[in-house]
Amino acid sequence: MTDRQVLLRRLPAVDRLLNTPPLSELAGSHAHAQLRTAAQRAVDALRQHLLADGEPLPDLTPEAVARLAAEYLHALETPSLRRVLNLTGTVLHTNLGRAPLAESVLQAVVEVSRGYSTLEYDLAEGKRGERHVHVEELLCRLTGAEAALAVNNNAGAVLLALSALAGGKSALVSRGELIEIGGSFRIPEIMAAGGVRLVEVGATNKTHFDDYRKAIGPDTALILKVHTSNYRILGFTSAVTGEELAALGTERGVPVLEDLGSGLLLDLAQLGLPREPTVRETLATGIDVVTFSGDKLLGGPQAGLIVGKQEIVARLKKHPLARALRLDKMTLAALEATLRLYLDPQRALREVPTLRLLAISAGELQRRCQELLPQLQAAAGNRAELDIVATTATVGGGAMPLAELPGFAVAVTPRHSSLQQLTEHLRHGDPPVIGRVQDDRLLLDPRTLLPGEDALLVKALEQALT
Ligand SMILES: *Cc1c(COP(=O)(O)O)cnc(C)c1O
Repeated sequence: MTDRQVLLRRLPAVDRLLNTPPLSELAGSHAHAQLRTAAQRAVDALRQHLLADGEPLPDLTPEAVARLAAEYLHALETPSLRRVLNLTGTVLHTNLGRAPLAESVLQAVVEVSRGYSTLEYDLAEGKRGERHVHVEELLCRLTGAEAALAVNNNAGAVLLALSALAGGKSALVSRGELIEIGGSFRIPEIMAAGGVRLVEVGATNKTHFDDYRKAIGPDTALILKVHTSNYRILGFTSAVTGEELAALGTERGVPVLEDLGSGLLLDLAQLGLPREPTVRETLATGIDVVTFSGDKLLGGPQAGLIVGKQEIVARLKKHPLARALRLDKMTLAALEATLRLYLDPQRALREVPTLRLLAISAGELQRRCQELLPQLQAAAGNRAELDIVATTATVGGGAMPLAELPGFAVAVTPRHSSLQQLTEHLRHGDPPVIGRVQDDRLLLDPRTLLPGEDALLVKALEQALT
């Protein structure tokens, strides 16, 4: 018998583990079957480990194996989708869930989801109603549109609009707008998925009015304009304006769709951000239908918003994809409550977290860093060197890619461990903390540290360094 085979026989029995702390101490709060499964998993994992040649030999005492089983049980009970502290400074971090929601919005979600609701019930008539009424009028008021529809996300909104307006026919798109957004959303591919033939017009850097005019044929069902949200072509460039495309569409009887991507309801130049046309301004050019995201600069839940002419939106509402991509009650509640905040623009600027975080000034961030530094330094002791550095943050979510938000961050340089160990320990904390690594140190940017999270950060840093 080899050494490893001898060791296999030393693996403690599951029944023994159930009587060994710390697993035995969990008997009061867990079902016997749960404890048994965890113990079995620990034994199985160690058996695999022993059979794999070259692995260092594990500790096989009952206490060590029972500890492993208790860890499995804990991991099993930790939710997979959970809160993290975002210290990256990126306001719309797609991987960290994009827009945080306002308090009144969360209340609306809880209120509507705890019990029954008017999701598809018309109280005035006492009969079946339609779910999109909850946001349609608000969207029309906020954008000046004749009609509106909300679906699962903006990728879905574009797919629906393309399928309903140009399925089986062709659509014109400028070569400079055949973009890829993160997560494999590519205009040519989404068109193929919608059964739309892509007719490319112009060149990568320049597309002229005449390119569109000449490309229109009997098969043309749509002109698509796409906001190149996450990249810019600089230098020798030209593009055709929304006004020109809308006029061409009207003249030739071809609808014009603009995918705005982020979609603003307010002009954020007042926050020092780059000037971008709002949804209202885009519709005012005469474009027939505009799509945009709910959880980018709007600061609401994930959703795809479609606004435009009555007759066009009616065609979209009737398409089978509208049913497939429809919103659930929780998202509708969150979207309606977010849109309500915009009825008073000042209130939106105060209460929509995305707008509030974008508006934080460099001076305010410097004060936040000065406030956090002594607390973080006390938590770190002599295990890390901390100081305040000037830095810039990004908007994120593919919105305003060139915008730089000036600010300050606390830079952490660990003294006894590597930077990689520190970021890893922070990621495994409770709650996990995600920062930004730059110039061989970890930056903790307080722009995206939300109210009430300071103490959690301090504790997490202390634990990560011990
Ligand atoms: C972000 C974006 C999308 C995708 O929107 P989601 O809401 O993430 O599905 C589509 N088009 C453009 C131009 C975008 O910027």
